[in-house]
Amino acid sequence: MKVCSGCGISIQTEDKQMPGFAPQRALERERVICQRCFRITHYNEIASVSLDNKDYRAILNDISNHDALVIMCIDLFDVAGSWVKGIDQAIGDNSILLVANKMDLFPLSITIEKIEDWLRKEARSRGLKPVDIVVISAKKGYEFDQLIGMIEQYREGKNVFVVGSANVGKSTMINRLIKDFGEGLDHELTTSPYPGTTLQTVHIPLEDGKELIDTPGIINEQQMSHLIAPEEIPLITPTKPIDPIVYQLNEQQTLFIGGLVRIDFIKGERQSFVFYVANQLNLHRTKLENADTLYENHKGELLAPPSMDTLENFPPFVTHTIRIKNGEEKDIVISGLGWVAVKGTGALIEVQAPKGVHIGIRPSLI
Ligand code: GDP
Repeated sequence: MKVCSGCGISIQTEDKQMPGFAPQRALERERVICQRCFRITHYNEIASVSLDNKDYRAILNDISNHDALVIMCIDLFDVAGSWVKGIDQAIGDNSILLVANKMDLFPLSITIEKIEDWLRKEARSRGLKPVDIVVISAKKGYEFDQLIGMIEQYREGKNVFVVGSANVGKSTMINRLIKDFGEGLDHELTTSPYPGTTLQTVHIPLEDGKELIDTPGIINEQQMSHLIAPEEIPLITPTKPIDPIVYQLNEQQTLFIGGLVRIDFIKGERQSFVFYVANQLNLHRTKLENADTLYENHKGELLAPPSMDTLENFPPFVTHTIRIKNGEEKDIVISGLGWVAVKGTGALIEVQAPKGVHIGIRPSLI
């Protein structure tokens, strides 16, 4: 078996996200180098790899042996799915800074204060007390000055570990940090994935001799993006700030979000349901009594994604019952997809979502 001449890991050509990936044609060369080492050496860029649970736990639990600042990067569209499970234990006595990414996709009318408030509650409910919360866009560079300021303030001259689930934008964030951090980091990106180990961390030197350490992203099988085919991810991912779509629904009506999720309005007065999901997604309204038949006859086609091919591996629906009281304003959050705002006169709603996808309720953000 070939090994990477950069980091020593066994080369594989199957899975881009997993360690040791190299494209087939790279194997023809005498000196084979994995894609991650290639990017580091040629583009001065990191590419986070992903690991499964067991290897990941070992890395995560090792953090408590270090005196460091921990940054956890989460996806604003998938807080439940992207939250690193067990992070509260893994950090030991270290401080943690919560970085919520992809704010460029959030509707413009939401205030940062509301988002931070909501995230603080999410953290508390999961037993985590971050020293601070910052809402950023790694892609657009929003709030990077603030992020860098916080890192400098809270690391108190220590190393920094960056953790996050696959796809939250951790590499995008770190690559921008490398560019924005200024002198110390700029073009100093000498990698050291520890040769010959599976630890797969990347060490980036900071100007004071300390390091920013990128840990692999854990693949969370419950993330919506792992339930569909990779080519379908663009179908559910917003590309710009989402525009709300308003439906006035009567009780006993159903609304399908593609074939991914089904919302049954069981009981309540006619009221508005505001959908905050990727605008390219197909929403389809029908009568509740026709919904089962419609789904059976049109799943994978009219009701897609998932497409016919993906459906085979798509988890079965699970029903979540939600009661909203008269006068309450709530968001029903469908992790990885978006949310539906219900403000009205009370409603009994059943959400059918693939097994494993988290359905949450929060006070309306807007
Ligand atoms: P990682 O697996 O956590 O390292 O995630 P990546 O940095 O590879 O990003 C995963 C996907 O999210 C890519 O398609 C990125 O382009 C996208 N992404 C990352 N950050 C942002 C962001 O701030 N906004 C948006 N809209 N997309 C982002």
